[in-house]
Amino acid sequence: THFGFKTVAEEEKAQHVAGVFSSVAQKYDVMNDLMSAGLHRLWKRFAIELSGVRAGQRVLDVAGGTADLSRAFLKRTGPSGEVWLTDINNAMLTVGRDRLLDRGILTPTAQCDAEKLPFPANYFDCVSVAFGLRNMTHKDRALAEMQRVLRPGGRLLVLEFSKVWGPLEKIYDLYSFKVLPWLGEKIAHDAESYRYLAESIRMHPDQKTLKTMMEQAGFSRVEYFNLTGGVVALHRGYKL
Ligand code: SAM
Repeated sequence: THFGFKTVAEEEKAQHVAGVFSSVAQKYDVMNDLMSAGLHRLWKRFAIELSGVRAGQRVLDVAGGTADLSRAFLKRTGPSGEVWLTDINNAMLTVGRDRLLDRGILTPTAQCDAEKLPFPANYFDCVSVAFGLRNMTHKDRALAEMQRVLRPGGRLLVLEFSKVWGPLEKIYDLYSFKVLPWLGEKIAHDAESYRYLAESIRMHPDQKTLKTMMEQAGFSRVEYFNLTGGVVALHRGYKL
């Protein structure tokens, strides 16, 4: 990046990610259930439990997409709390907001880039990012932004695909490079987006690397929990 402008490669990645999510938005929820055999619901539930969010608190759901986490957080914060559903992608955000509205839930939403959050410093009790960090061009900037908007004592939860346990690797590779694109083609008529998914997972930092990145962004007491043999990891860190 020069003087705040994105380089051609960075711009291409951002454009590509935008294209992928605009294209999958309508089928996103069905595909999630299908591809993970419903496991993503358990992974998300685990994240919510570890958040420790209580009634009256303020929560920011970064890359919130179709609002699974926002909805679960709202149950915990109650009407006295505040849950912001945010995403960079208008198609995903619209699906998420409509889903909430269909259930009679009205919550603030914002279309914004995690690398430049439109919130004041020290505002939120909890920030979450589920399956979103992987898609961000500058993960360090995004993590620093999430740190900035948290109040001292607040925590960040990062739920993301991670490095699987050795003996599982072969079958996991087979699943993600063969089965996933095939499912993507059959159900969403979009093999390419699901090929991107498998590749972006391989490129994403492993458990230890992400822990270090969170520490470098200013988080303390960072720990992680492997879920389903490391297919997914939940990282939690505090702003102290
Ligand atoms: N959190 C939801 C969930 O767990 O189901 C949605 C996850 S979806 C795989 C990833 C989301 O990250 C997409 O909705 C995408 O638009 C969003 N995203 C990608 N880059 C982003 C960025 N720089 N800032 C904010 N959101 C971003």
